[in-house]
Amino acid sequence: MTVYNFCAGPAMLPTDVMAKAQAELLDFQGLGVSVMELSHRSKSFMAVAEAAEANLRQLMNIGDDYAVLFTHGGARAHFSAIPQNLVAAGAKVDYLISGQWSAGAAKEAAKYATVNAIDLRDGGGLDLSRLNQAGEGEYLHYCPNETVDGVAMFEEPVTDKPLIADYSSCILGRHIDINKYGLIYAGAQKNIGPAGLAIVIVRRDLLGEGQPQLPSILNYRLLDDNGSMYNTPPTFAWYLAGEVFKWLQQQGGVEAMAGVNRAKAALLYDFIDSSTFYQNRVQPSHRSEMNVPFQLTNASLDGAFLAQAEQAGLMALKGHRSVGGMRASIYNAMPLEGVRALVDFMKQFESDNR
Ligand SMILES: *Cc1c(COP(=O)(O)O)cnc(C)c1O
Repeated sequence: MTVYNFCAGPAMLPTDVMAKAQAELLDFQGLGVSVMELSHRSKSFMAVAEAAEANLRQLMNIGDDYAVLFTHGGARAHFSAIPQNLVAAGAKVDYLISGQWSAGAAKEAAKYATVNAIDLRDGGGLDLSRLNQAGEGEYLHYCPNETVDGVAMFEEPVTDKPLIADYSSCILGRHIDINKYGLIYAGAQKNIGPAGLAIVIVRRDLLGEGQPQLPSILNYRLLDDNGSMYNTPPTFAWYLAGEVFKWLQQQGGVEAMAGVNRAKAALLYDFIDSSTFYQNRVQPSHRSEMNVPFQLTNASLDGAFLAQAEQAGLMALKGHRSVGGMRASIYNAMPLEGVRALVDFMKQFESDNR
């Protein structure tokens, strides 16, 4: 039976990438050892690392004025690293709140800076007119795709300050004009590779000494000066991310993925909207293409839905504990057939339980 994994993260990875990693796991390029067992400074690993960075730069059209860092600590490490790197202690910074992750980022930043939190949440949508409450902060932070809430912002907020974004759950899933940003970052485990790795793309002219207590392993300038090898990087995750980047290039790059992602999301939302048995409460213009939360009108059927879905090979559909109901995460690696299988199952479950 084909299993489709709808986990929000760590999420499924492309099958072709996993098969290649398996095939070369014990003997990397004829060296007789695994890529996991190579010195990060060896010629072989350096080639892996450089190719991964070059391919990511190609996929996202990133110029030399930006550093691309492969770092530890997932996305959350950067909730604290960003203010410590970019502003003096206590400086004013603006945070747009559109869901749980941006709220978490603002809370962490408040340890190092004076946070002006601008809450855009408005029922199932976002009130973008509140953007005008930003202003004095030295940068503006937001989260374009709220993984838990299934709420997305498709247009960048307009600001004359450096724009910073947590792209953990939609990087490489749609076009990003990097030149509009001062910094973007992403934990790897949604659209890039194994958990633990985070990627930071930052305009080099923003980098300085950082706040005095900034840990060296999170010091962006130090990381950039050392090619992300100030300490031992997560080498296997870096290698696997590189394989995902090659796979994305073979699929036709980010624009091609974005087309498939739009089709997958449309299929699922259109079905949910056509049914009174299921619902999604997010305002259509702010619906995420990556994370689709939905509820059964009759929540007492939740347990049966999840158990039968699992038996049908549709894994990890349980919603986040704070939201309840279901959530289907449909990142780049999820094929259209996976979403078709989910919709077919939902139709069947509905007719069995009407
Ligand atoms: C998953 C996620 C995070 C947290 O990532 P970690 O790697 O667990 O730190 C942060 N922000 C967003 C938007 C996420 O989806």
